[in-house]
Amino acid sequence: MKCPKCGKSIDPVQHGDLTFDDQVWCADCHQYDGELFRHRDFAELENWALKICAAFGQEPVALQQNLKSLTNPRIYWQDSTFVLAEADHQQRSILLYPPGYRLPTLCHELAHIFTGQDHTEAWARTFAKLVAWVKTQL
Ligand SMILES: [Zn+2]
Ligand SMILES: [Zn+2]
Repeated sequence: MKCPKCGKSIDPVQHGDLTFDDQVWCADCHQYDGELFRHRDFAELENWALKICAAFGQEPVALQQNLKSLTNPRIYWQDSTFVLAEADHQQRSILLYPPGYRLPTLCHELAHIFTGQDHTEAWARTFAKLVAWVKTQL
């Protein structure tokens, strides 16, 4: 894949260096805006998950919070990076960790469930479309 602005080659596996917003951009060319990226309550994200699933014709996806990680932040540190969330494709559920209580994280995980794919190009494009839709609803 290539960044639509600068033409640099981008790899969806390196998703931490990319911005998914309608298209898939390198982080030098495009960033999430503050309202999209701000921290949200879990209940608010549950509501968003329902709305996004309905808008994209998908069965509902359940969100779960890791309550232990609220009192013990070490649970979501792995190999010195934050784990933001995990998606279970079979169960159609997403486990969110507090640093991941943001709309782009939710869209990232929903795109895994909607496509049934890991960090592929199809996943990346779906993620970007989910973010674009969310922005129309903010
Ligand atoms: Zn670029
Ligand atoms: Zn992922």
